[in-house]
Amino acid sequence: MREPSYDNRFKLADSNRCPRCHYKLDGASGGTGAPPKAGDYSVCIMCAAMLVFTPEAAKGLRLMTEEEQLDLPGDARAELHRVQRAVILTNLKLGKGVPDREQP
Ligand SMILES: [Zn+2]
Repeated sequence: MREPSYDNRFKLADSNRCPRCHYKLDGASGGTGAPPKAGDYSVCIMCAAMLVFTPEAAKGLRLMTEEEQLDLPGDARAELHRVQRAVILTNLKLGKGVPDREQP
């Protein structure tokens, strides 16, 4: 399987904030090369929360439900967990600590 590339970066609306930690998420990157669309998954670069892009432009992102996490195909779940680990390890190296693991 080809490793996804995160070289494709997309600007998000300035109003996008993580619904868990409220960090301003003004950009996204992904392996498909296409801009994110409603239903696509993401991970907060600050707290590593699993997120879903919504169709409502004003809201932008919401927390992924536990049911959605369980329903993810194995490869998608593994990729999201890999990105979560990378975010957490990077933030630890930068002295930002371990994010709160609280989910809704
Ligand atoms: Zn967050």
